[in-house]
Amino acid sequence: MKNSFHINTQLLGLIGHPIKHTFSPFIHNVAVELKKLNYIYLPFDVPPSNLRNAIKGMIALGIKGFNVTIPHKEAVLSYMNNVSDEASIIGSINTIVNDQGKLNGYNTDADGILNTLLPYKEKLNGENVSIVGAGGAARAVIYSLIRYFKPKKINLINRTEQRAESLKIYFRDKMKFDSFKICELFPPDLINVLKDSKLIVNATPVGMFPDSDDTITTLKESFKKNQIVFDLVYNPPQTKLLQLASSEGAVTLDGIKMLVHQAAKSFELWTGEILPIDELNKSLQLYIQD
Ligand code: NAP
Repeated sequence: MKNSFHINTQLLGLIGHPIKHTFSPFIHNVAVELKKLNYIYLPFDVPPSNLRNAIKGMIALGIKGFNVTIPHKEAVLSYMNNVSDEASIIGSINTIVNDQGKLNGYNTDADGILNTLLPYKEKLNGENVSIVGAGGAARAVIYSLIRYFKPKKINLINRTEQRAESLKIYFRDKMKFDSFKICELFPPDLINVLKDSKLIVNATPVGMFPDSDDTITTLKESFKKNQIVFDLVYNPPQTKLLQLASSEGAVTLDGIKMLVHQAAKSFELWTGEILPIDELNKSLQLYIQD
């Protein structure tokens, strides 16, 4: 990166805890360089006990924008002056824009999910789908599926069943969608539920670096030919889950496309510029292979 920061350089960043696995600084700093803009993007490891101070610091220091990741996506809602309709329905924020001390919250994960699944829109219409996980990312997946893909039934599968139950009630009230089935994450009981799903989404960190040998299920009977399996984990791109699903003939989608598209929307909200997706994908592939 060129050493060309000066008095007008604006700061962007990521707040989360932990944040070691993130590719976002790479994506945004390459985009800034490709577009010849005057920003720098830095990661900030902010434990929950420091979230309030970090947000205050953002305003005090005039930091232009933050991405927000685990575990703050829901907690930051209460610090916003405005929240987009989408973020408000999803109930979590991954992008903050500081507009001269007024904080606007957005959720761009939904853009990433929409762009990843759009080529399969007709195949998903009226089908059963399964989502594993019930955190912030799962909320964006549920929102996007109901809003854009019209599934018949959504199986909500989570380690803590009660949390999935809460999401069912939340989205039934917010989006008037009532066709949920709640399941505990116990793979032997899930074979038929998963196999009967046209789409399976992993919205948990299971399989993420450095625990790349982990997977939400090792039971290959859970998958079938022509099923779509989408893993939100992007590091590594080819997770154990995707390898297993692919070996059974499923179409597999990694978390990279979602990552780049959600980043593109955040970048546009902060800078008003379109992120050069194709060039960025090329740089990202090289970075990951390194
Ligand atoms: P989160 O809010 O912390 O939720 C995590 C979910 O995963 C919870 O439902 C949790 O279950 C479950 N979980 C965590 N560890 C587990 C384990 N060892 N076994 C089984 N279940 C487990 O996290 P999030 O923000 O939703 O993010 C989830 C994943 O999506 C992360 O890997 C994140 O990097 C990825 N993501 C990717 C993108 C992208 O652009 N590709 C964007 C957003 C998120 P409990 O309820 O039982 O705790």
